[in-house]
Amino acid sequence: MQVERTAPPVLWTNTIFLGLAHAVAAYAVVHLFWIGVSPWTLALAGLWFVLCGLGITGGYHRLFAHRTFRASAPVRLLALLFGAASVQNSALDWAADHRQHHNRADKHDDPYSIHHGFWWAHMGWVMHQGPTAQKRGVHDLERDPLVVWQDRYYGWIALAMGAVLPTSLGLLWGDPLGAFLIAGFLRLVLQWHATFAINSFTHRFGSRPYDPQSTARDSWWTALVTFGEGYHNFHHRFPTDYRNGVRWYHFDPTKWTVWTLSRVGLTKELRRTPRERIRSARDKASAA
Ligand SMILES: [Zn+2]
Ligand SMILES: [Zn+2]
Repeated sequence: MQVERTAPPVLWTNTIFLGLAHAVAAYAVVHLFWIGVSPWTLALAGLWFVLCGLGITGGYHRLFAHRTFRASAPVRLLALLFGAASVQNSALDWAADHRQHHNRADKHDDPYSIHHGFWWAHMGWVMHQGPTAQKRGVHDLERDPLVVWQDRYYGWIALAMGAVLPTSLGLLWGDPLGAFLIAGFLRLVLQWHATFAINSFTHRFGSRPYDPQSTARDSWWTALVTFGEGYHNFHHRFPTDYRNGVRWYHFDPTKWTVWTLSRVGLTKELRRTPRERIRSARDKASAA
């Protein structure tokens, strides 16, 4: 069901930046295949894609927005630095939007409701004044000085971690332009669409083994590009679980990273939904 409504006002800063970043990323593809880049640049882009991706999935999403585990200061700092490099807002703003998405899922004030259309859920909501702009149900996070620091200097941190640092690293092997284009902007745009796919594709395509009423769905192929976030029906049913891919064969590198860090004492209090509750939800969903 798509809800008809008048389009909210355009956020021109976001819209222009999104457009410019896509233009630079398109040029980066031309540069990559016509001019070529150092293999070190490709390795850097891959590393940045993984670290920035985990900054969002393990940091912004499962740690800050849902508090599904606790993390030591160095882990929180890294998540905030690489999360900023993903240019998806500060952790505080991201968590505010995301908590609203869960609390008001599929209602008119869900900031990225699929009921406003596939395009809106994918990236239209980033380009318009959303319903959560004035609401910040994130007072618990405001007690973390690292989160507050990242919120205050978000723009500078995003610039430093997303563009200046990869470009400077490219200088080490004589390819700063390639690093700027590929590890900076092509990586950024690919990562945006991976994140956006959770709000669009996994609210439209996939299975609903835990909650047939929700628009959120489980989709293994979006899990592949989002470090495990594609098991979205499970996640909406059990949002306080640090796992999204709950079965051993589910591809959920975010879960594996959080678990591995817990083995060396860098994360703790990983929250899991009791097995019986999960089984009961599955049984109810399959009987529905
Ligand atoms: Zn969702
Ligand atoms: Zn969530």
